[in-house]
Amino acid sequence: TTQQSVTIIGLGPMGQAMTTAFLDRGYAVTLWNRTPSRADALVARGATLAPSVEEALAANEAVILSLTDYAAMYDVLGPAETALSGRVLVNLSSDTPEKARAAARWTAERGAVHLTGGITVPPSGVGQPESLTFYSGPREAFDKHRDVLEVVTGRSDYRGEDPGLAALFYQLGMVMFWTSMLSYWQAIALAKANGLAAADILQHATDTANSLPGFFAFYAERIDAGNHVGDVDRLAMGMASIDHVLHTNADSGVDTALPAAVAGLFRRGMEAGHAADSFSSLLDIMQKAEA
Ligand code: NDP
Repeated sequence: TTQQSVTIIGLGPMGQAMTTAFLDRGYAVTLWNRTPSRADALVARGATLAPSVEEALAANEAVILSLTDYAAMYDVLGPAETALSGRVLVNLSSDTPEKARAAARWTAERGAVHLTGGITVPPSGVGQPESLTFYSGPREAFDKHRDVLEVVTGRSDYRGEDPGLAALFYQLGMVMFWTSMLSYWQAIALAKANGLAAADILQHATDTANSLPGFFAFYAERIDAGNHVGDVDRLAMGMASIDHVLHTNADSGVDTALPAAVAGLFRRGMEAGHAADSFSSLLDIMQKAEA
C-alpha cells in the first residue's frame, strides 16, 4: 500500500493543527507557507517544506488551503497558476459565499477543482472525531477525497454543488457566534460594573445559553409555518423587557450599543404593528433589510 499524502498551504494556528493531525495519522504532508519558519516544528516532526508553491501543488492532487481569507489565496496561487491544473483545492479559509463562488470559477478556469470548506472548530478541535466541517462544490471531489477530509474533522457535512453553500453555513454559525459572545461580554461588563467577576456569573450565563436550544426548536417550527401568533410571548412584552435591559446597563454606566441595537429592532417591530404578535415577527423586519 502506498502512503497517503496531502499538501497544506497556510500555517496559521489552523494549518498547523491540520498538519499535526495528518502526521499523527501517518500521512506524508507537504507544506508551503509565506513565512517559511512557521513550518520548522512541523518539518522536525516529518513534514516536507516545499521550496515553492509550484512544488507544493505538484506534490499532491489534494491541496488544503488554510489562509486568512480568499484574497490571500490569489496572492499565493496567482503567481503559480500554471501549476494548478488537475489539483483539488480544499479551501478551509473562511470568507463570504460570493467569494467562494468566484474562487470556484477562477479555479475551474485553471483546470482545477475548488471544494469550499467551512470548519466550525478552533485549532484544538481539528482532527477530533466529533468536530464538523461543512463542504460544498463538486460531489465527485468530495467523495474522492473523503479520507483526507475526515482527518481534518471527523464529521464532514456536504451541503451541495453550489460552492457558496459551505461558506453560507459557516457564516450562519459565525453570525450567531459573534453576537452571542458579545452578549456574554455585555453580561460580564454589567456584572463587573456591579462588583461581580466573570466567574461569579459563569453558571448563570451557562444555564441561560443552555436554555436557548429549546427556544430554537419551538420557534423554528412556527416560523417555517408562518405562525407568529402572540400566544406565549407578545412583542409588547419583549419591548418592555429589552427597555429594562437597556436601562439597567445605562444605570450601571456600561456601554449600551448592543442592547440599544436590539431595542431598536423591537421598536421598529412595534411601529410596524406587531405589538400583539410574537417577537418572532421581528423576522419580517430583518428579512426585508436583506432585500
Ligand atoms: P491566520 O489568519 O492566522 O492564518 C494565516 C495564514 O494565512 C498564514 O499561513 C499566513 O501566512 C497566511 N496569509 C495571510 N495573508 C496572506 C497573504 N496575503 N499571502 C500569503 N499568505 C497569507 O488564520 P488561522 O490559521 O487562525 O485560520 C485560518 C482560516 O481558518 C481563517 O480563514 C479562519 O477564519 C478560519 N478559522 C479559524 C479558526 C480559529 O479558531 N483560528 C476557527 C475556524 C475557522 P504567514 O504565516 O506568512 O503570515
